[in-house]
Amino acid sequence: MLLKGGKIINPEDNFEGLSDIRIKNGIITEIAPDLIPEKDEEIINVTGKIVTPGFVDMHCHLREPGFNAKETIKTGIAAAINGGYTAICPMANTNPQVDNASTLMYTISKARETGEIGFYPICAVTKGLQGEKLVNVSELLDIGAIAFSDDGKPVENMHFLREALKYINSHNSIIISHSEDSSLAEGGVINEGKVSTRIGLKGIPAITESLAIARELEVVRSVNGRYHFAHVSTKRSVELIRQAKKEGLKVTAETAPHYFSLTEDDMIDYDAKYKVNPPLRTKEDKEAIIEGLKDGTIDVIATDHAPHTVHEKLMPIQNAPMGISGFETSLGVALTYLVHSGKLSLKDVIKKLTFAPATILNISDQGKIKTGHEANLTVIDLNEEWIADASKFKSKCRISPFDGMRFKGRAKMTIIKGKITEIG
Ligand SMILES: [Zn+2]
Repeated sequence: MLLKGGKIINPEDNFEGLSDIRIKNGIITEIAPDLIPEKDEEIINVTGKIVTPGFVDMHCHLREPGFNAKETIKTGIAAAINGGYTAICPMANTNPQVDNASTLMYTISKARETGEIGFYPICAVTKGLQGEKLVNVSELLDIGAIAFSDDGKPVENMHFLREALKYINSHNSIIISHSEDSSLAEGGVINEGKVSTRIGLKGIPAITESLAIARELEVVRSVNGRYHFAHVSTKRSVELIRQAKKEGLKVTAETAPHYFSLTEDDMIDYDAKYKVNPPLRTKEDKEAIIEGLKDGTIDVIATDHAPHTVHEKLMPIQNAPMGISGFETSLGVALTYLVHSGKLSLKDVIKKLTFAPATILNISDQGKIKTGHEANLTVIDLNEEWIADASKFKSKCRISPFDGMRFKGRAKMTIIKGKITEIG
């Protein structure tokens, strides 16, 4: 198969230019301009399109086992492919949680039978996400765990976190932190600020996140650990991580599209579509997140795809669960709010969707366009204008704060091991 006429962006070697890509048996065999088609070779014309490594989502929730009404592994994978993703890393907060060998094997076999996406599960750090007893790290890594996180909940016992970090790092893996001080977050619905005051909802202050990050940074420093911060949402968090990186700490960070596109002001109508944890913050926070993306403090754009049923998301805001359907709008939001707005280069955004997460997680067959490696690619139309329509999502969570919004730029093909899925 020959992908012909596309403009390649490959963050690994900083390449940006016109080139063809030859794929045989799912493997990239040749990358060069003007490749001559071989006899009977299938030609895929991607003239005018951008060809990038396939997107890697290092933070999502697929809900199976336990909450199949919200999403299943099958529908989650279909939604991810529909958003341009060739690899995903689901979090462990299912029921039962992915804190043991049999549940991990179950999710991996489900993913294998339903889709061909790169599937790299993140296992719990602690049994039952209770923050007390470490999971069997080496056993889970042998089966296929890619990293460890109690996401949805913080690990609050700092002695425990320190020991777990040393142990997990010694196995060449990382902890992904849901940084939150639960005493400050408790009972909160939206960001603590002018909107929460005005509409009378209990707020979640920004220091809920930054205080936890500050504390964890000291733990990371004390053991010289490698550590990743999930869904960074506040200005102060960005400042802390920026300073830590300057000092040489081996930390990385991600944010999600809603934190650089939406703010607490969007919640003025009590609409639970926007309810997410961490909550949408202020305009100032949003700008700091964009600045953090720009200067490299924030390495990765992850979706934090966190589906719920439409019924649940239509409940009164106090009762509705937190989470946004993310796979199918992430690229549109990133291109519209970061690239077309002139804030980040296309190359930088692509890196944060591909090479950066693959590198943090040590996934060798993702995040790059390289001969001898699997053909995991995304084809993008940078200028197509489209309106998000949640009713057409492949995700079961067909409700979204981005529903009805106009975006510029979208994925047109997801190519996984040479197999093409057309989008849109
Ligand atoms: Zn989280």
